[in-house]
Amino acid sequence: MERQITQLKVERELIKKEETVISEEARRISSQCRHYAMCKIDFLRTGLCPAGEENHFVSYYPQGRMDIYHALANNRIPVTERLVDIADTCTLCGVCDKQCYFVTELRPMKVMAALKDYVEAHVRAGKEVVRPESDRTLARMREVVGEKWATNDPAILVSYSHDPGVFTGVQTPRYVIMPGKREEVSQIVKICNRHHLPFAVRGNGSSVMGFVFAKDGLVMDMGRMKRITLDKSNWYASVEAGVAAFELQKEVAKHGLRVNVAEPSALVCANLMCSGIFSTFSASYGTAANNYINAEFVGLDGEVFHLNQREAPNLFAFHKEELPLPGVCTRADVKVHPTTEDEDGILVPFSGFHDAVAFSRELGRRRIGLAVAVLGGEYMSTFMSPTEALGDSVKSTFKEDLGIEYAVLVIGDRYALQAVRSMTDVVIDGELLKIFTLGLPRMAEGEWKDLVRGLEGSRAPYKILMKPEMYPLLEAVLKPSPELLAQAVEPDLRDFFMELFSRHEMSNLVWLNMFRIISSRMGRRKHAVAFIVYVPLDDIDLAADINDEFKRIGDSHGVSHDYGFITPLDFGKRAVFEYDYYVDHTDPLDVQRMQQAIDSTARMIEGFSQIDRRVKWIRYVLYQGFARMENLLYM
Ligand code: SF4
Repeated sequence: MERQITQLKVERELIKKEETVISEEARRISSQCRHYAMCKIDFLRTGLCPAGEENHFVSYYPQGRMDIYHALANNRIPVTERLVDIADTCTLCGVCDKQCYFVTELRPMKVMAALKDYVEAHVRAGKEVVRPESDRTLARMREVVGEKWATNDPAILVSYSHDPGVFTGVQTPRYVIMPGKREEVSQIVKICNRHHLPFAVRGNGSSVMGFVFAKDGLVMDMGRMKRITLDKSNWYASVEAGVAAFELQKEVAKHGLRVNVAEPSALVCANLMCSGIFSTFSASYGTAANNYINAEFVGLDGEVFHLNQREAPNLFAFHKEELPLPGVCTRADVKVHPTTEDEDGILVPFSGFHDAVAFSRELGRRRIGLAVAVLGGEYMSTFMSPTEALGDSVKSTFKEDLGIEYAVLVIGDRYALQAVRSMTDVVIDGELLKIFTLGLPRMAEGEWKDLVRGLEGSRAPYKILMKPEMYPLLEAVLKPSPELLAQAVEPDLRDFFMELFSRHEMSNLVWLNMFRIISSRMGRRKHAVAFIVYVPLDDIDLAADINDEFKRIGDSHGVSHDYGFITPLDFGKRAVFEYDYYVDHTDPLDVQRMQQAIDSTARMIEGFSQIDRRVKWIRYVLYQGFARMENLLYM
């Protein structure tokens, strides 16, 4: 990796041009940014982008730089003062290449270098560097947050103007502002009201459904409000609006605690507000209001309220309708939970949907396990494969070679895991998962194929092959090692990935789940559009019918799709069900297909919810995530 960075720097010196030239390769890469914001959290222990960490606006992070380059390449923005600073502050350190490659297999460094080249050549040639004029509204906002943290510079605005969502389009705001504390949020909301300026509140990535844009208005990026205060004796962490799930989990884990959070780069307060937090741990920690103790808001009038005030708006209620934003959540007191040192994770394989879901319901009923989820075989192999090509070559391994279509993930202490083992014939434990993960490349080879072919018969091969006495044979055939798996990635990244794959956490189901890394590669091939539906679990046929309908609609519209997960809630009475569609957001035809598929799917879910009112989907939970779980699931 170091060699590659040096090489890149030398090449840049040699090709310094007087003309500003757009690199087609960099343009193509920049168009593919999914806005998942994994470059804004330190999930690989590489450290963060230094420029982003210091300057906070997304435009200084790799994600924003990708948008900027794409906009420059399409003549959507001029070279501005801020853009010169953005290009200048990139040190070409290479951190973003490791992070982004892990998740999407993209190489943003090529874009970073091209951006620097372009801007340097522009400045060297003496071309105009635009300095946007201020106005009275901006001047007033700067008085509140400070000169640096309120701007109308197009290089900042462009990173807040679009997402890969298929209905969004470009919606450029007039201003972007980064408040540092609640009082500033309050004053900014009042200024917006006075000037009739629409505003949107923005988290780390983007909502991917167009909810964080304010065309001609103001976007409030909460990324500077990052304080976490732990109150151990009262079992909660006070979290400001800019804290990401990964950051909070990392902080409380230092104290042997855990929080129930969503995707690692998602902001905790934003998740609580928008959808309520659901995860595999919702099997025991619940969802919606179960996850917090209190929350602080700046209301739409700019005044502050707390949920525990009698006169506060009733955010505990749930109504099946689309409601407006109730205010800006500036702080939440999030529940923390104890952990034990004997926690571990296992997967229970199944060849059919019905049996897997019934098993997860049984675990819910009996209160076994902290995290429970029915995962699809492809979901697992997507995470285990560091590249799409390897994923494709071993795609059939779980389903066709081993006969596994679904696996029930269980995280629990040793008593819970003993109980699970006593309820089934075979499990994939940590040791076996490591053998499969680090030996994955050999699953495309002849020796493995011969082994599974030899097991063909009446029983599913996994029932024989996954018994502990078979582990030595599996090791002999797959010869698992970090070196082997690292061979799958691009040569200059192999040293880094070899070290990464040798870390315990990379095959540890507890860590992978509580930090939500296991789903991070879902959008590697294309941008993922997730459908979340709450379903009753006493009628598994209903969940199976919904699953079949997702599949049918995906197929009929020609969009890629895959089952996501099902997690039992509230003693197995209900479940949260995710199904995912995938779109190449840069391909207009694919976008059109996805729009039609979403439309059909919306009608399908509404149809099911009219037949059985216990079926509810996330559409109506928007801005109602603080509701009582009971109101959400049962009213
Ligand atoms: S190469 Fe540039 S953009 Fe990427 S992480 Fe380093 S400083 Fe940030």
